[in-house]
Amino acid sequence: MIRAMLGAAALVFSLAHAQVDERKSMAFDIVERNAEQLATIGDTLYYYAELGMQEHESAKFLKETLEGIGFKVDLGGAGFPTNVWATWGSGRPHIVIVTEIDALPEGSQTPGSIERKPLVKGAPGHMEGHNTHGAVAVGAAYAVKRVMERYKLPGTVSISFGPAEEQLVSRPFLVRAGLFKDADAAILIHIGDNFSTGYGLQNYAAISAKFTFHGKTAHGAVNPWEGRDAVDAVELMDMGFDKLREHLRPSQRAHRTITIGGIQPNIIPDLGQIWWFVRDANAPWAKENFDKLVNIARGAALMTGTTMDMEVVASAWPQLGNRVIAEAIQRNIDAVGNPKWSDEEQKFAREFQTALGLKTVGLNAAPVNFGARPQSFASNDSGDVTWNVPSGNLNFPASVPGVNYHNWQAAVTPVSSIAHKGEVAGAKVLAASLLDLLTSPDLIAKAQDQFRQDTRDTPYFSFLPANAKPPLELNREMMERFRPEMRKHYVNRKPQFR
Ligand SMILES: [Zn+2]
Repeated sequence: MIRAMLGAAALVFSLAHAQVDERKSMAFDIVERNAEQLATIGDTLYYYAELGMQEHESAKFLKETLEGIGFKVDLGGAGFPTNVWATWGSGRPHIVIVTEIDALPEGSQTPGSIERKPLVKGAPGHMEGHNTHGAVAVGAAYAVKRVMERYKLPGTVSISFGPAEEQLVSRPFLVRAGLFKDADAAILIHIGDNFSTGYGLQNYAAISAKFTFHGKTAHGAVNPWEGRDAVDAVELMDMGFDKLREHLRPSQRAHRTITIGGIQPNIIPDLGQIWWFVRDANAPWAKENFDKLVNIARGAALMTGTTMDMEVVASAWPQLGNRVIAEAIQRNIDAVGNPKWSDEEQKFAREFQTALGLKTVGLNAAPVNFGARPQSFASNDSGDVTWNVPSGNLNFPASVPGVNYHNWQAAVTPVSSIAHKGEVAGAKVLAASLLDLLTSPDLIAKAQDQFRQDTRDTPYFSFLPANAKPPLELNREMMERFRPEMRKHYVNRKPQFR
């Protein structure tokens, strides 16, 4: 009897399993036959190359593309004109793809050229490859929608393209506006030089703030005793923090730049400004360091008889990778595997690596082993999402190993066949992982258990001051200066999904 029951259970299990495989292979077929549309999306975003907060063309293009495949698209959420939120389906579970599409200043480069050759001199460019994120997110969402229609699966899929990731701006606002409050799980995607996921703390918490001191001008020689020196306050703040460093945890990172430092020596400056980044391995520690920094600024103002105002420019919680979701993603990474690189692609990658003085390893042939991902010291504002919704990370292989992001060299390949193949592979794994989350209540329940455990001692709080507003002017001047020249390189093609 027991054996018969076990046999029946095994049969049910294998039928269910077969159906899962069938759904996933349908999704893989859809992604593959739309490889050209994915490439069009990634390439279009590459040539827009819009800086954070100014992603207007990119947002409009994604809205049209997503509406073309049946998604409902909301632009302008949380007070960000370039915030894109797209949704399809209804009811639970609700799974959100979280990513970004902004470029970087002075990253303009002629694709494929391993010599420095800007497309438009001085213009922004995709020297991290965020353009590929659009391809992967839309490609996977389309495939999953088709599978959900075919198999009549309940649930909702959303894509969140958050503005200005490169300056850690938007996600704390999106979270505060409640955009993620009914999400059951999220998957954060990012370009990489390999396939990987991970769990635990993936990177650092950060708070970025500008401190502005206001004093009184006077002649430096004639009546300096009548002046109040705002740049003295900047210097004292700097010294004060250096004294503090000894008494902070060894995990802390803090760096600053003086953004307003006076005019000429014989004018006592009435304006001074210093911009700080404070980071630590977790959010409460970063906040502790930051509160001490604010007190140092107050002390500097008191010492110099100046006044001080402080503006939080950006902030991020460390990304918290959910182990249960990461395990599901890893199974899909292992099933899909790295793209099959051609000899030509390998040859190009090796030549590129040689030219840059890097190890000549070519392109990675196999995914990274599970769990082998240490906490990095960088930050990504999508971290705030991960403390509100159980989230998994997915990095897909679409760039050349060793080539560092935030350098023009990283803008050489984001529209190459290497990137295109990485987009297809990434979209397959993302689609399969979305299907796992959509079709397995058990997986969601386990992920939520894990989430409760991970966040029990550290409930989320916002780094944003209550009066913080989206920085709408950020990068506007620079983007508007270059856009007319950049426009000449636009792709001007509409992806037609099949
Ligand atoms: Zn990035």
